[in-house]
Amino acid sequence: MAGPERNADLRALIRTIPDFPKPGIAFRDITTLLLSPAGLAACVERMAEAVDGPLDLVAGIEARGFLFAAALAIPLRAGVLLIRKDGKLPGATIAEDYALEYGQDRIAIHADALVPGARVLLVDDLIATGGTARAALRLLRKAGGVVTQAQFVVDLPDLGGADRLRDEGIAVHALVDFPGD
Ligand code: AMP
Repeated sequence: MAGPERNADLRALIRTIPDFPKPGIAFRDITTLLLSPAGLAACVERMAEAVDGPLDLVAGIEARGFLFAAALAIPLRAGVLLIRKDGKLPGATIAEDYALEYGQDRIAIHADALVPGARVLLVDDLIATGGTARAALRLLRKAGGVVTQAQFVVDLPDLGGADRLRDEGIAVHALVDFPGD
């Protein structure tokens, strides 16, 4: 990551809510960035600039990832693939489980959403431990997708998720990081 002034304008638009959803968690709230016309445009433009090479699909993780995935896919002339919580998609799905701090969760995609060899960019608003993004990566690869890059608005580097994704061969890009979280 570059110096502290990198994307300082976007960082200033992200609100921190202490102790949400539970004591000790600093929730990095991007809804305040979404409310800013200039901030939202700059955010999407800078994410698009960081994309490497042509893509077929931008895969967004429910729910905030959908917003950035769709906004990025339009200028990139890519389609949008929805990675949803299990049980929401109407067609035949493939799913992947991942561990939460307490218990498990499951995400799913439509089984026919990908043609093998499709070049897919993975997108979410934030990466923390990387559990969600790594489950999404397994799912996309299981479906035959070629995933080499992932983008986030926010990285919490001390939680190690971005490094874990890099270990899986992914080039990880985030606009803003909050060290120490
Ligand atoms: P993880 O699987 O630990 O990388 O968590 C990533 C997912 O949880 C993303 O979809 C985020 O939206 C959400 N998330 C985790 N930690 C935070 C946080 N401190 N602030 C805002 N969202 C978070």
